[in-house]
Amino acid sequence: MAEIDLLFRDVLIFDGAGGAPETGEVAVAGDLIVAVGQGLDVAAREVIDGAGRALSPGFIDVHTHDDAVVLSAAGLTPKLTQGVTSVVTGNCGISLAPGLPAGMDRPAPPLDLLGTAEAFAYPRFQDYLLALQDFRPSANVLPLVGHAVLRLRAMGDCDRPATAAEIRRMRADLAEALAAGAIGLSTGLAYPPARFADTEEVRELVSDVARAGGLWATHMRDERSGVVSAVAETLDIARRTGVRTLISHHKCCGAAAHGLSRTTLAMIAAARQEMSVDLDVYPYTASSTVLNSTFAGDSDTVTISWSEPHPCCAGRTLANIAAEWGVGEDVALERLRPGGAIYHQMCEDDLLQIMAFEPTLVGSDGLPRDERPHPRLWGSFPRVLGHYARERGVFAMETAIAKMTGRTAAVLGLPDRGLLREGFKADLVLFDPATIGDAATYDEPTRPAIGLSAVWVNGRAALRDGVPTGTRAGAVLGAAR
Ligand SMILES: [Zn+2]
Repeated sequence: MAEIDLLFRDVLIFDGAGGAPETGEVAVAGDLIVAVGQGLDVAAREVIDGAGRALSPGFIDVHTHDDAVVLSAAGLTPKLTQGVTSVVTGNCGISLAPGLPAGMDRPAPPLDLLGTAEAFAYPRFQDYLLALQDFRPSANVLPLVGHAVLRLRAMGDCDRPATAAEIRRMRADLAEALAAGAIGLSTGLAYPPARFADTEEVRELVSDVARAGGLWATHMRDERSGVVSAVAETLDIARRTGVRTLISHHKCCGAAAHGLSRTTLAMIAAARQEMSVDLDVYPYTASSTVLNSTFAGDSDTVTISWSEPHPCCAGRTLANIAAEWGVGEDVALERLRPGGAIYHQMCEDDLLQIMAFEPTLVGSDGLPRDERPHPRLWGSFPRVLGHYARERGVFAMETAIAKMTGRTAAVLGLPDRGLLREGFKADLVLFDPATIGDAATYDEPTRPAIGLSAVWVNGRAALRDGVPTGTRAGAVLGAAR
């Protein structure tokens, strides 16, 4: 056996495939898991006595907006403290690369969720990936390229379907990104820059993704009362192109949509018989994105998460601000833009239905740039494990873990991650299954999760005693295409 760097003793091993946990030992050499078993007694540079705590594959956050923070030293602290060792960036049609079109001096919403104009510093997708590789992030990164960016670059004025020439320009940018190492394309058809794209435009781009063997992640056109037709459009594109499809943060927003998850999940279950379609969810009944009157109109409460003109309004409700200003909420919303908000607009039953649906994966959709972020940024993974698995028994702990490790790696096509098995990469998380849980709330959204001891990324400690080590051992995955 190779020289052992790390030996975990007396750990409750969750394999990531959903199997029942077993107590045993795990040995790591370099960046690889080299042995998993019972009674393993080998010399190692470091021995960690688990004292019965759980050891599982590191969690994969399949839905993030971490595009900019992966390039900063402490930017992934909200993720490492949750046990996340890999993040998928570039979701909802927005990515930091390729660069903004000439003359655009500030990123159009929702691109501003990622950062200010200075963050969009990469002319080509390859430039972004080279910067990432140079920097070496603290977790692994799987980058998607965003359709809204391609659209802004190709069209300028986006309030209409693209012409054939404009689609050709988008396809050229898409080809560059896929060749450089993007794992696929994301679309955000609910947002202004992309909303006017017709099904045909999306289908043409997605066909290229399918040919390259990539993934299509979609924030669907409608997650409100029209969510059923949005799922139908998604499945139609998936069927016609054969692309591997991932429905992002599936939800039913607004009272008129409550209960529709039974229909959408039945559609997805039927489609899975004949095509590759998956979905993810975050474990909360409030959404969060840029300030938008349509989203606000469907919400019981709207809380401001950031506002460029009125930064001190972050954390306050729109109703409260409007009352103080003596204006209607629609007027207040316009005055607060550019900005973001948390929208309380879903029901717990839909969330439970979606989360418990066997194929559903966990993604945070956290917004790291927000002044007062939605607690999903700091709490999603421990909340699924603590609140939904242990306390409410929505599923077994091993099932919850599979939704954030093994199944996720399978959907992303990662051959050597997501399982705690010999020969797999040593992305690992050590936690106490009896106490793991989220501490972040809507009132105190940046409180780190509890019950997590340590995290390893590619065999190197990224978190010890719940504190990030500063080690940056993450890899850019997919860049070897
Ligand atoms: Zn989204």
